[in-house]
Amino acid sequence: MKHSDNSFQDSPLARELYESGSKLSELRAQSVKKPKQTRIFTVANQKGGVGKTTTTVNIAAALASKGLKVLVIDLDPQGNASTALNIEHSFETTSIYEVLTKKVPLDQVVVQSPAYENLFVAPATIRLASADMDLAPATGREYKLQKALNVYLTAYEFDYVFIDCPPSLGLLTVNAFAAATEVMIPVQCEYYALEGLAQLMGILELIQEDVNPDLKISTFLMTMFDARTRLASQVVEDVRANYPKVTLNTIIPRSVRVSEAPGFGQTILDYDPSSPGALAYLAAAIEIANKR
Ligand code: ATP
Ligand code: MG
Repeated sequence: MKHSDNSFQDSPLARELYESGSKLSELRAQSVKKPKQTRIFTVANQKGGVGKTTTTVNIAAALASKGLKVLVIDLDPQGNASTALNIEHSFETTSIYEVLTKKVPLDQVVVQSPAYENLFVAPATIRLASADMDLAPATGREYKLQKALNVYLTAYEFDYVFIDCPPSLGLLTVNAFAAATEVMIPVQCEYYALEGLAQLMGILELIQEDVNPDLKISTFLMTMFDARTRLASQVVEDVRANYPKVTLNTIIPRSVRVSEAPGFGQTILDYDPSSPGALAYLAAAIEIANKR
């Protein structure tokens, strides 16, 4: 099928699937591997607005739609992942804040997503904004999330956990790095991408030395790709050249539909399942699950 949207010009996998006529049904039909052990991803980038939350909720929903059991931990005081997944997170909600600062067990805050029976969410409230300060004097302050998650995962079996981080490298993000097995970095296709990545890789080396030696920097996902600009293609080429092993083939196109979805408390997979953004996120999820 021919179409005018060439957002996939640099994403062979996504384009191939998108142009194959029955693309949605093909992606839906593709099976994904169930991991032997829980894969725990921290979705991080100190730069704001690069697509961390959008990536977290859509990849999580895509894997849940494939029958895998998925937990999203909202670790951002903005609570955007909770909003996008339509999860209550008012000031009174017992949330990940109480888990980190008041030893409330994770199973008291985790709720089931209204859209997917396999998808669960630990919401964040604005209270989390003071967690950095509250935790500063605490012993083992970097490992609060790791401890809570370990206890939780011994009682409940999950295939994937995604931790959505705020746009900073403060104590919340360090807790996420300590709790994770892998890091996923959404990279916006724009001029400063490589500079930001180099800084982040430097920090991650320190994290591996001091906090979590087993942490694997496994996945870069290029986001908000605009096929009309040469710059976007150049950035993709540069990131692939510098980080060939970890950069996914699938690229997420810039698409208004993707940005509209959270306003309806829906992921793009439900809001507009056959749109380029939905197909790309589904393709990215399949690539993540089947890559290794
Ligand atoms: P923050 O650093 O504030 O947590 P973030 O890295 O989580 O931000 P998002 O909130 O996911 O980034 O995305 C930033 C904005 O860009 C949002 O308004 C989102 O709807 C929009 N956006 C994300 N991905 C796309 C896309 N592929 N196409 C169009 N808009 C997008
Ligand atoms: Mg966010």
